[in-house]
Amino acid sequence: MKFTLGSVTVLADGPGVMVHTPPLLLQLQQAGYDVDVAATPSAALFTTPYAPALLTGHPAAHWPLPDAALTANRAVLLAPSSLNAFKAIPPAERQRLENSPAGLLVAPALLPADNPADALDEWRQLASPRWLVVPPTAHTPLGALGDILVAPPETCVEWIRRWQTPQDLAGRRILITAGPTAEDIDPVRYLTNRSTGRMGGSLARIAARRGATVTVVHGPLSCPLPTLPNITPVPVRSAQQMFDAVDAHLNDCDVAILCAAVADYAPATYSELKLKKSDRPHSLWDMPDALPLRRTPDILAHLGARSPRPFLVGFAAESDHIEENARLKLMRKGCDLLCANDITEPGSGFAVSTNRVTIFTRTGDIHRLPQLDKDDVARKILDLVAEALG
Ligand code: C5P
Repeated sequence: MKFTLGSVTVLADGPGVMVHTPPLLLQLQQAGYDVDVAATPSAALFTTPYAPALLTGHPAAHWPLPDAALTANRAVLLAPSSLNAFKAIPPAERQRLENSPAGLLVAPALLPADNPADALDEWRQLASPRWLVVPPTAHTPLGALGDILVAPPETCVEWIRRWQTPQDLAGRRILITAGPTAEDIDPVRYLTNRSTGRMGGSLARIAARRGATVTVVHGPLSCPLPTLPNITPVPVRSAQQMFDAVDAHLNDCDVAILCAAVADYAPATYSELKLKKSDRPHSLWDMPDALPLRRTPDILAHLGARSPRPFLVGFAAESDHIEENARLKLMRKGCDLLCANDITEPGSGFAVSTNRVTIFTRTGDIHRLPQLDKDDVARKILDLVAEALG
């Protein structure tokens, strides 16, 4: 395995070491971190030094943490931790951690009796400013001990990434549209397209990681959105619903990135009853030979025509004359940036994890990106957004 992103010491506490720690260790390594473990005395009751060593390849460290775990560019993640366990860290030891240059993160574990908002307030008062508090979001069963509420492993990994990332979009409010829309014909049939929502998910993840407050208006997704506290999903189904939801959020955003594959046409009418198949359609309830369609509203063009309007990023999935079409679309729809991709190229467009995008700017610049992972494409787009916002 290749580690490129840095080193993390997971400081495991309590019985969570049996349930939360193993997937956390594996996911941190999958994300590219070199990981080791130190067990607090209460975690040591529930594990042996060999179990984490098996998962990380390093012998488990002892508590208190060795100095080598507390250097710059290293993170210590105390997860999951009860408030009592955090309060029980000897003051001299806590001082040593907090005076070190290492990143300090804690994932509080809340008990069923805790009020999450009050408990989180108490945690923030106790732990900040030095510790980054990872908000608890998922009920995690600990068998006979009941449930705890804690950030799931993937959220902990995301917060480590955030700790490493410059917050150049802090305070920015970004509206993203993502995924396909579904245009209903009758209660069972609908028109849609191959979009999975992956590009929109990448944009949301990277924008949130860089400190933005993100709202994602999305159609039915086959690739789930990242669950992070500064990402608010707004699920919709049809193009008209997406239009209405975007319009409702327009005044609360500085940037709008419209990467949804919105259906351009919807059935002209919707049938409340399931249409019957028939060789010779003659009634309102028979599926017609040809489906009459109507145009859907163009959300991007609607935003582009507004004044004032947010900084506007559009997408263009093209299969021919990409540059020509992209430039035309940029002007016609009134965008600041237009990201064009050739959907006929392998590894670009819908339902793949990579994309090759060329970004056209209103001022005439062209940024031709190589084929990249969609997170990296999102990073490049957001670099240009951050630069333009100043
Ligand atoms: O015209 P075309 O569909 O190729 O334009 C693509 C861009 O316009 C994308 O950014 C897409 O999200 C947006 N769009 C929209 N509303 C539509 C159709 C497209 O916002 N009805």
